[in-house]
Amino acid sequence: MKKLIGLLVVLAALAGAVWYFVLDGKGPATAEGAIDVAALRALVADDAAETLPREIRIEFVGESQAPSFAAEAGAFDGQRTFSFNSLQIVAPGGDIIIDGAVDRATLEEMSRGAGSFSEEAYHRVINAMSGAQAVLITHEHLDHVMAIARHPAPDLIARRLQLTAPQLAALPDHAPDGVLAPSIARINISDFSAPHRVAPGVAVVAAPGHSDGTVLIFVRTATREHLMIGDIAWVMTNIENVRGRPRLVGLVVPGVDPDRPAVLRQLRALHDLTAAEPDLVIIPAHDDVYLRQLVQDGVLAEEFTVPASQ
Ligand SMILES: [Zn+2]
Ligand SMILES: [Zn+2]
Repeated sequence: MKKLIGLLVVLAALAGAVWYFVLDGKGPATAEGAIDVAALRALVADDAAETLPREIRIEFVGESQAPSFAAEAGAFDGQRTFSFNSLQIVAPGGDIIIDGAVDRATLEEMSRGAGSFSEEAYHRVINAMSGAQAVLITHEHLDHVMAIARHPAPDLIARRLQLTAPQLAALPDHAPDGVLAPSIARINISDFSAPHRVAPGVAVVAAPGHSDGTVLIFVRTATREHLMIGDIAWVMTNIENVRGRPRLVGLVVPGVDPDRPAVLRQLRALHDLTAAEPDLVIIPAHDDVYLRQLVQDGVLAEEFTVPASQ
């Protein structure tokens, strides 16, 4: 009898651990004020039409597979394809590049050799950064910064970088030999703790949770509004189902979701936002199927354009 009770206690503890680390991910029922799109929109509301970004382009640099339950707690519907990419906001006043994707070595390490990588796409990202008006990142994780931390001409991109303190602080870890180029190390820090307009039609605000340096980037073109959310959601079903990543991910990959309750509030806010404003295009960083559908639908254009001077 004692043995049986002991076994039941162990099983209950195991079930509890599985629930806690793998299954539990539901966001709150309300998240008033967690994401203030109105504040971002207001900052660019008066920008003249001829100054607005013309289009948003995407470079699919790499991809790899992961089980669905790693992206969304409690989801067990096979594999999801993760995209590693960079975005180009094409604008009359100069292009803005968002995120530096992965280089080949990083993708192979992350995917244990099972991912695919486009050398051509990565080089277009490197070149576009050199000629951009500004370079921002959605956050400081390794799969978003490599074309910056390992850029072959750091002096060329340093003055274009608009990075917050936590974003810049993470870059040395990803730089060659762990040493960031001096020109990048001493850039002026950007402060996006309050909503900030970075260019006509483009506004940014800090949204810590998935990482300390996560930001939201609002982009208004002549025809549409977009919200780049980085890794707040890895896949759109995080938003549809208001279900975040399992706690297991934070254990396996340190630095993911240091403020998980904040991420879950943001997912609720994004869920409510998509219901209230179906025309606002949400752009998550990694949902390959969804991003390629945006290309199919003409919302994003594939491949970067290279500035005429290059
Ligand atoms: Zn991330
Ligand atoms: Zn990421």
